[in-house]
Amino acid sequence: MDKIVIIGGGIAGLSAGIFAQKNGFESVILEKHNVLGGECTGWDRRGYHIDGCIHWLVGTKKGTPIHDLWTAAGALDVVEIYHPESFLAFEYDGIRVHLYRDLDRLKSSWLELSPQDEAAINNFCCTIKQLQSFEIPVGKPEDMMGFMEKIKLMISMKDAGKVMKKYGKISLPEYAKTFKHPALREALTSFLPEGYSASTVFFALAAFTKGQASIPYGGSKKFAQRMVKRYLSLGGDIEAPCEAVELNIEGNRVRRVICSSGKAFEADYYIAACDAHVLYEKLLKGKYPDPEFQKRFNNPEDYPLASEIRIAIGYEGRTDEIPRTLRFPIDSFKVNGRPINYLTITHYSYEPDFAPAGHTLITCSINQFHADYDAWNALAEDPSAYSREKTRIGKEVISGIEKRFPQMNGKLSLLDVATPKTFERYCNAYRGAFMPFLPTIKGKMMAHTGRIKGLENIFLSGQWLQPPGGLPVALITGKDTIMRLCKMKNKLFIY
Ligand SMILES: Cc1cc2nc3c(=O)[nH]c(=O)nc-3n(C[C@H](O)[C@H](O)[C@H](O)COP(=O)(O)OP(=O)(O)OC[C@H]3O[C@@H](n4cnc5c(N)ncnc54)[C@H](O)[C@@H]3O)c2cc1C
Repeated sequence: MDKIVIIGGGIAGLSAGIFAQKNGFESVILEKHNVLGGECTGWDRRGYHIDGCIHWLVGTKKGTPIHDLWTAAGALDVVEIYHPESFLAFEYDGIRVHLYRDLDRLKSSWLELSPQDEAAINNFCCTIKQLQSFEIPVGKPEDMMGFMEKIKLMISMKDAGKVMKKYGKISLPEYAKTFKHPALREALTSFLPEGYSASTVFFALAAFTKGQASIPYGGSKKFAQRMVKRYLSLGGDIEAPCEAVELNIEGNRVRRVICSSGKAFEADYYIAACDAHVLYEKLLKGKYPDPEFQKRFNNPEDYPLASEIRIAIGYEGRTDEIPRTLRFPIDSFKVNGRPINYLTITHYSYEPDFAPAGHTLITCSINQFHADYDAWNALAEDPSAYSREKTRIGKEVISGIEKRFPQMNGKLSLLDVATPKTFERYCNAYRGAFMPFLPTIKGKMMAHTGRIKGLENIFLSGQWLQPPGGLPVALITGKDTIMRLCKMKNKLFIY
């Protein structure tokens, strides 16, 4: 039986492990942290459970290929799904703009707010509707497809292609200018971190409005734990905590992986389901550079990476009247010299187990980019200054929330502040990134096979291989790596 060592126990590593076991390989996952799940995680603080990931999961709609794949990996087969009624509500000058799940409701609420934007609103809703037929392809990686399969894929991507062509090269703020009402403009501009192309808003809302992007109850950590359970039940093996620090290479083959504990693991095949930068720069020591990745790592302007500060707050009260995710203006404060004029908060009143009885978990995300990471990196050299800055930001956020919701005054307590350095420390995430390179108007999207030129028995897997990244890409690329291995071994792939 061929043996596979999988470096990294995030969603991609778990997916690779599950499909490896299903297809008759013997596998072991090496994970640097003591908990598996990677960026798909959550942690406990003072009686609260802080969810660290899933705001929306593509694949929650039954009967779709990506839902079937999540189910085959054990992540979604025994769990109820929470369907928030709005993706995000946005406040501007006393007006609330909703991105409702019900597209007709979204349309009528926007028309009521701004009849003069009728043409732009119609166009917006029509484009979302047009994209609702789009399903993320999960069947086979493109490099394994025959001619007819590629033609079929192209036909199925027809509408997506049209939207990409029209909106892939327009920035969100630019697109927002097609609306006259300032609240609609602001809502669209702030929908996603700066730098994203306008196409992203359509893909996200098409998935959301057709019920494909909801949230599994129990949150991110339990979601990943279900995959761990499936992997173990299939006979997979886990070593954690166990950080891979070196690869022994002979000729064009990896011979063994050495871990920080000194333990070595040998296998026929190796899957690096860790961060791409960790593989190329730390494990392969820069000796096997990939031009596609190099181009992106070396050009952060056209290929930005986003991270975030995640502030967790406990509230002694209920938030049932507040939209699940709300963005509202505040008295500006600065983070790394940049003004923060809005807060985006999410509350978890639908998850009673995330907080003590009668209390609610609230999180706030502040997007961070290239210069922010550098600032945090420098600050982390001085642990007490780093800790003071986290507390200062937490207090600013609490004061912004209290001002907007006076009923919360004195009832909010700071639980935790995670920065880009936190994601780097726990997951080895390059520059703390929560997604691969953003689909921007200047950058070119990359779909990578995960093959490393010059090495025949190691593959990269995970969110870095395919746009737009996120959990579905981690799942798909883990599975795809095993499909490629099955093809190399002349084995029929089993789901
Ligand atoms: C705050 C936040 C919110 C998010 N929200 C969403 C969302 O709503 N929807 C969505 O689809 N996606 C979301 N994402 C993105 C999603 O979490 C990631 O795309 C996905 O989890 C990536 O999975 P992965 O397995 O490719 O990589 P990772 O999760 O990074 O897993 C890599 C694993 O490898 C381990 N590792 C790294 N180096 C080594 C080593 N040398 N040796 C051993 N182990 C190693 C790491 O510890 C980690 O466990 C979010 C991410 C964050 C951070």
